[in-house]
Amino acid sequence: LASRDFHPADSVIRIKDVEIGGQEIVIMGGPCAVESNDQIDEIARLVKASGAQVLRGGAFKPRTGPYSFQGIGIEGLEMMAEAGKKHGLLTITEVMTPEYVDVCAQYADILQVGTRNMQNFDLLRKLGTIQTPVLLKRGFSATYDEFLNAAEYILAGGNPNVMLCERGIRTFETYTRNTLDLAAIPALQTLSHLPVISDPSHGTGRRELVEPMSKASVAAGANGLIVEMHTDPDNSMTGDGVQSLFPDQFAKLMLDLEKLAPLV
Ligand code: PEP
Ligand code: MN
Repeated sequence: LASRDFHPADSVIRIKDVEIGGQEIVIMGGPCAVESNDQIDEIARLVKASGAQVLRGGAFKPRTGPYSFQGIGIEGLEMMAEAGKKHGLLTITEVMTPEYVDVCAQYADILQVGTRNMQNFDLLRKLGTIQTPVLLKRGFSATYDEFLNAAEYILAGGNPNVMLCERGIRTFETYTRNTLDLAAIPALQTLSHLPVISDPSHGTGRRELVEPMSKASVAAGANGLIVEMHTDPDNSMTGDGVQSLFPDQFAKLMLDLEKLAPLV
């Protein structure tokens, strides 16, 4: 079902008045994690003012260590839904377990499956039973074939609204957090009809590389970008402040991208 052979035309996912996978590029921006009401409200305002259409933010965070901040949970979902509604943005948040799919879908417009859960088959099967759009992140060691098979689990269950997200893979390089596989963008679009979104934030792990790799992703044909932005990245509650753009950098990126391609 994920294959271009099965479905020759590009899949376009419509969420309210936003189309993902069409001629225009969708930009999703926001913090790694929802931290407080004021934080997500202010960031939502800035995301909207910059011209983006989707607010990102994690309420459930998949942390490498069990003692790290794990996200603020349901309260965070409520805060983000509120901020999205107030500022006229769609919202995307990560869901980590099948049990939380329904509650996350109640609050968010798009559900994100993180890199560490790309092959959490019970989660994928559960996401196949609803119609909420899913942004499926590529496992950091997954081949394109494994990635497309993971998408297949969701599609096979009856949910056609799947986006693929290239977020960088593990290589021998340590300067960058991951290696953003730019070739994955056109390769996945050749193999599949599903929209492909690029994540230059996790794909590089370095703020100064986000702008150039955002532009490179758009040049490579990405249908959208998901970018971390924070008003106070040095004090962010996850380690992802180092890869988060400052609001003025995010606004400038949006202006630069508009010159490259039409944005949603
Ligand atoms: C995130 O988007 O904040 C995140 C945890 O992403 P990934 O699953 O790609 O590491
Ligand atoms: Mn993050």
